[in-house]
Amino acid sequence: MQHLEPHGYSTHTLADYNEAIDLLILPGDIIRQDEDVEINSSHQPKFMFTHGASTIICLVGSKDSDIRIIRWIFIYGEKASSFLWSSLIPRFVRQWLDSVTDRLLYQRNPAFQVIYVVLWLTVFVQFSLETDWLLRKYRIASNLSTVAYAGFFGNLVLFLCCSWTNPGIITKSGYRKLIVEYDYDNQMFKKDSRCKSCEILKPARSKHCAICDHCVHRFDHHCTWINNCVGARNVRYFLLFLLSITLQCALVAALSTMAMWKLADVTGLLDAQYLDANQVKRPVTIFIIVQHLFMQRPFIIFITASLWLLVILTGAFTSYHIFLACTNQTTNERYKLAEMKKENRKLNMKIGKKDDKLKTREIVRFYNAGLWRNLKEVFL
Ligand SMILES: [Zn+2]
Ligand SMILES: [Zn+2]
Repeated sequence: MQHLEPHGYSTHTLADYNEAIDLLILPGDIIRQDEDVEINSSHQPKFMFTHGASTIICLVGSKDSDIRIIRWIFIYGEKASSFLWSSLIPRFVRQWLDSVTDRLLYQRNPAFQVIYVVLWLTVFVQFSLETDWLLRKYRIASNLSTVAYAGFFGNLVLFLCCSWTNPGIITKSGYRKLIVEYDYDNQMFKKDSRCKSCEILKPARSKHCAICDHCVHRFDHHCTWINNCVGARNVRYFLLFLLSITLQCALVAALSTMAMWKLADVTGLLDAQYLDANQVKRPVTIFIIVQHLFMQRPFIIFITASLWLLVILTGAFTSYHIFLACTNQTTNERYKLAEMKKENRKLNMKIGKKDDKLKTREIVRFYNAGLWRNLKEVFL
């Protein structure tokens, strides 16, 4: 089959990356493990290295950017980083990184769960020993401090629920019951399609997880952080878990910021002055205040800054999953839709048509039963 490419593009176009951006995938979350598609995991570190910079450049550019310099950087940047990767990194290091990445991301293992618990403990210890102590000492928002402790506990419980709950594994004896649960849209989910690994008829909206090696009902994605699939039976915990992370990060970051600001106030740092290059006294700037506080209490400032960053990242990811829940879609379906759009674009390009014949709206709305029923489906 002949591949037609628009002039000036590589086969990996900006559109490919925009599709990935559309899906809003966080590091560690995997959806590309269709049983029909073999994962070439031996190239993963190289992929990250060579595509990381390119993806950032594409993120900076607008969605359908016509800025040639970005395309140029994208195409040649990828080639250059690929060359640097293979020429600067010794072969044994590359092979070692390949095997580590393969074991970490493409085989079930508790590494990310351990990392999560360590991070949780770090923030908890920092909050208890520094922030909470300062809040109590200066009598600021002590009620919120209690809420924060409850939040830590709730977050950990939800994390364990996501990790240990059956996501909706489809067994040979149970698939018949599930087949009637959703209609086949015959676009993304075709009737009478079988899973080659589980040897069962696939219920609509299900997918085989190559990492866990079973089919999951209403499959969303495999999350390496919880070392489990997200599916029909645990998506509620996953959503609540994401919400709790975002709110908890925001609360602890806000309390730490308040504690630090109070500390700067009582130590006179807010009213201090500094001598500029011309030996003129000037009131301290925010940057100088933060710099001084960092020298005094580096742990709390580092944690607070990291938490504010996490609020943005997890906030975006949580918003995306709330959008999916409200519109009754899954990450897997968004990915399938993106693939279909890409195929459709290629086909249109081949036959010289410009209009998009793919009925995207119909596909997106197929399982949409209205906001209330969609949320009920997820949470009840
Ligand atoms: Zn299967
Ligand atoms: Zn899985």
